[in-house]
Amino acid sequence: MDKIQILKELVDTFGISGFEEPVRQKIRKLFPQVKFKEDNVGNLFTTVGNGGKKIAIMAHMDELGFLINYVEKNGYLRFKLIGGWDVRGVYNRVVEILTDKGMVYGVIGLKPPHLLKNEEFDKVLSWDDLYIDVGVEGDEEVKKMNIIPVLPARLKKDFVMLDEKYVVTRALDDRVGCALNLLLLENFLHNYTKNNITLVWTVQEETGLRGAQAFSARNSFDEVYILDTISAGNLPWGDFYQSPARTGGGPVIRLADRKGVSSLRLRNFVKSIAKRNKVEVQETVTGGSTDAAAAFEAGLNSIPLCIPVKYTHSQVEMMDIADYHNTLKLLLLIGTN
Ligand SMILES: [Zn+2]
Repeated sequence: MDKIQILKELVDTFGISGFEEPVRQKIRKLFPQVKFKEDNVGNLFTTVGNGGKKIAIMAHMDELGFLINYVEKNGYLRFKLIGGWDVRGVYNRVVEILTDKGMVYGVIGLKPPHLLKNEEFDKVLSWDDLYIDVGVEGDEEVKKMNIIPVLPARLKKDFVMLDEKYVVTRALDDRVGCALNLLLLENFLHNYTKNNITLVWTVQEETGLRGAQAFSARNSFDEVYILDTISAGNLPWGDFYQSPARTGGGPVIRLADRKGVSSLRLRNFVKSIAKRNKVEVQETVTGGSTDAAAAFEAGLNSIPLCIPVKYTHSQVEMMDIADYHNTLKLLLLIGTN
């Protein structure tokens, strides 16, 4: 399976937190020969190999989005946020609303410079100042377009390659983790592993690690690895100390973040295996959190292995393709040792 193609397909698939069904369907469709299981809250999983260590590898299917919550008389839509958005990233963008009859487009526009009063220039607007414009004159037309509260929406994505070296798109967080989990599955279907490995695609990470929490409470493993992204610090503003991981530096062992410290035992294991096999890894302490915290709180030994990404949670998340390949290499080593 082409590694970039599978990533692009997953990125393009609609799946904001709580509305992950299209991503589940996509995963099932890519591997029709595999028996996937789905738990009550929507986590998808399958197990390969038997004997050895009981390992889980998890990636979250959901991404940031919006919920349409009110239609104004004049036809403009009000919306609420799902996940950790930065308002500055949504102005003047195209929005995709998923209705029962398919995708409908709209825009989040700004008052143009021609109409701005002096004091309005450079002002950061609040969420309450923003509307989605679907190009109609009133609420009756909105209804005819099958747009009603509460429908999910997202910003329209561009998937761009920079010089064949970087991928730029929204939702690398965490479709790149989902893609890696699928590439692992493909590998373990063909190659022997002495371990018992459960690959898990979780729901609602962006709304508080909820899917991983549910899954970890009901299943037991010796080791849990979380595949996610981490904010790379090699940015023009020079605050590298806040997240001293860089794109191109290899997979990142996220030893600690806002939710606490991960398993030292797993950290030591991953570091030693990487060293023996000459895979370059980074290790860091940063902000935010991952599904690893939910697994830890359920009593499981867990650690996040993250792909460094610039401009996380924006429309232009940027990943060095070498990090994608090297993370897969590291995961295969973990799975077979
Ligand atoms: Zn995220």
